[in-house]
Amino acid sequence: MKSEINEKNAALGSERSVIREIFEYGNMRAAKIGRENVFDFSLGNPAVPTPDCINESIARLCRENADVHGYTSAQGALSVREKIAETINARFSAGASADDIYMTCGAAASLTITLNALVCSPQDEVAAFAPYFPEYRVFAESAGAVFRAVDADKDSFQISFASLEKTLNENTKAVIINSPNNPTGAVLTEKTLVRLCALLKEKSTEYGHHIYIISDEPYRELVYDNTDVPYMPAMYDDCIVCYSFSKSLSLAGERIGYIFVNPKAEYAKRIYAAVCGAGRALGYVCAPSLMQYAVAENMGDFADIAAYKRRRDLLYNALCDYGYDCVFPDGAFYLFVRSPLDDAKEFCELAKKYELLLVPSDSFGCGGYVRISYCVPEETIKRSLPLFKKLIDSIKREQIL
Ligand code: PLP
Repeated sequence: MKSEINEKNAALGSERSVIREIFEYGNMRAAKIGRENVFDFSLGNPAVPTPDCINESIARLCRENADVHGYTSAQGALSVREKIAETINARFSAGASADDIYMTCGAAASLTITLNALVCSPQDEVAAFAPYFPEYRVFAESAGAVFRAVDADKDSFQISFASLEKTLNENTKAVIINSPNNPTGAVLTEKTLVRLCALLKEKSTEYGHHIYIISDEPYRELVYDNTDVPYMPAMYDDCIVCYSFSKSLSLAGERIGYIFVNPKAEYAKRIYAAVCGAGRALGYVCAPSLMQYAVAENMGDFADIAAYKRRRDLLYNALCDYGYDCVFPDGAFYLFVRSPLDDAKEFCELAKKYELLLVPSDSFGCGGYVRISYCVPEETIKRSLPLFKKLIDSIKREQIL
């Protein structure tokens, strides 16, 4: 029978992500036993409030400027793009102008637009390093590319260069990096990135075409203890930054971010044109105007990073103390913990008995771990700690018996 709809998209829309599944389970349990008795660590929804300066800008812009509810240029208001260019030039000597910036509805839109701008043949491959944000596969495949996962470096959660070398081939169009990383919180060091850039440059020459780095940066500002997050366009010309204010300003629901096409890329102008074209084709034009103006007024401001650090320290120290094997997160708001049971899904099922909702790592392309999102109220973390202890103690008891 001839299909009346796009079956691929129907399948995508019908299946819930594992994370959403757990989130819905949490809502169901909360209705039964009370929200305060469920410890939902599934979603990456920022719990630290949006800074006052943003709320004040929004209120004032609404009061004083009727234009903020109208369309801007398709690629974003010129004044906003100028402000962003000025800021990244001051911070990173990016050499940006307003015409290298495209305003988007968050990192998800930044990524889909960028992939649609770059992918031009069904053979094109897009690689990402495990563990990776599961939507990368959806975004890359929907743009018409083949998605290739690079196996994880489970020792340091930097880059496994042996796996990367096996993955790269003449069809590799782009490599997505995400630092600080969801789900590990790891930050790629300068040493790792220098090696990555050298390898990609060598392979670009060997294959006779550019291999692009797509730097997915929703967590750039969420780093602790002065950890350095190197700026990719300064290290690699063929780089496109996919930025978002979702986490840095706790604006996840307002859908605002931008794409920065590095003007040093050989085909920068053509790439920017393709970004504008992909935005147009996908209907991602004129990102929310009010939010564009609000973020532009507050470019140096971020949500309270110290509040996330307190949560990180609380959770990491306690869990290590109880005997969990945790990856130390330098950034983002996730803790990646080795599953004490061989099967991480089984461990998450057991955790549910203690009302702890954790995400098994399988959908991140790296089995055997769980992700704990600690972007929840500090009180929730404090109250959950005895349950984490009981959980691992119960496993230790079983293992001894
Ligand atoms: N990339 C990563 C690594 C993420 O963790 C997320 C959201 O959690 C996104 C992209 C999408 O971000 P946004 O809400 O800005 O679209």
